[in-house]
Amino acid sequence: MTSPETELVVERRQMAAEGVLALTLRHPRDEDLPRWQPGAHVDVVLGPGLERQYSLCGDPADRAAWRIAVLRERDGRGGSAHVHEELKVGDRVRVRGPRNHFRLEAARRYRFVAGGIGITPILPMLAAAEEAGAEWSLLYGGRTRAGMAFTGELERYGERVTLVPEEELGRLDLGPVVDDVPGDTLVYCCGPGPLLDAAGERCPAGRLRVERFAPALGPGVQGPPGRPDVERRQRVGARTPELLQRRRTGAPARRLHH
Ligand SMILES: Cc1cc2nc3c(=O)[nH]c(=O)nc-3n(C[C@H](O)[C@H](O)[C@H](O)COP(=O)(O)OP(=O)(O)OC[C@H]3O[C@@H](n4cnc5c(N)ncnc54)[C@H](O)[C@@H]3O)c2cc1C
Repeated sequence: MTSPETELVVERRQMAAEGVLALTLRHPRDEDLPRWQPGAHVDVVLGPGLERQYSLCGDPADRAAWRIAVLRERDGRGGSAHVHEELKVGDRVRVRGPRNHFRLEAARRYRFVAGGIGITPILPMLAAAEEAGAEWSLLYGGRTRAGMAFTGELERYGERVTLVPEEELGRLDLGPVVDDVPGDTLVYCCGPGPLLDAAGERCPAGRLRVERFAPALGPGVQGPPGRPDVERRQRVGARTPELLQRRRTGAPARRLHH
């Protein structure tokens, strides 16, 4: 099934952290945008053969504007660099969706874990959990404090949010979040592959929901320049967790959910 495609206008560009650009998108005639729920993402068409997914990280109740936030990937194939360098205020951009493979299911308690740019789908989930009167906490890690997006917006949640910049405090300690998860609690995790793998290994079955921001891989897909290790691993079919998961489920590598 194909999602509806809309041409939107870039209304605002704002740095949300070092290396993270937030874009506000609007309909050119100020029409309402399609409804979405926390966890949804859109496909942004950046050029011929250049299409990337970005989670909606604004307010779902705001039908007039969508917000996405894009981390500039140094080793990427050009999608995020295009957003940072080419998309200007007033430009039109084709967007498909929204689609949601990371829905916030009803629960009494949530434990959210975000690594780096993985904060984007989690951000609207926090507001929804708050509004639903659920108990929740967020463990949010990043390499540096300056590179962690939306920390200002998170301040209003006080002690429910734990920020862990790796350069100051070391890596996220997942133990307290995933080792002992009561039956009324769901764990939502988005971030780098190793973080999701670690959560998957430790979290009790059925309690974890993850979204992976992995690029679409497959035969004929070129690895990023300067990453021969990645290309070699793919050629020899090394069993990265992602490849193993794809073999088990037959699913494309883009999105994996537990
Ligand atoms: C559902 C979903 C939601 C997403 N939401 C966001 C979001 O909110 N914000 C955001 O910044 N990004 C998000 N992404 C990721 C985004 O779609 C792009 O992948 C990202 O912007 C990087 O694009 P790129 O072309 O610059 O790099 P890509 O080429 O896509 O590379 C991204 C990373 O993958 C590695 N890589 C590239 N090619 C290969 C390969 N062949 N083998 C192994 N590794 C490879 C690169 O080294 C790099 O580290 C999301 C992805 C998905 C699937």
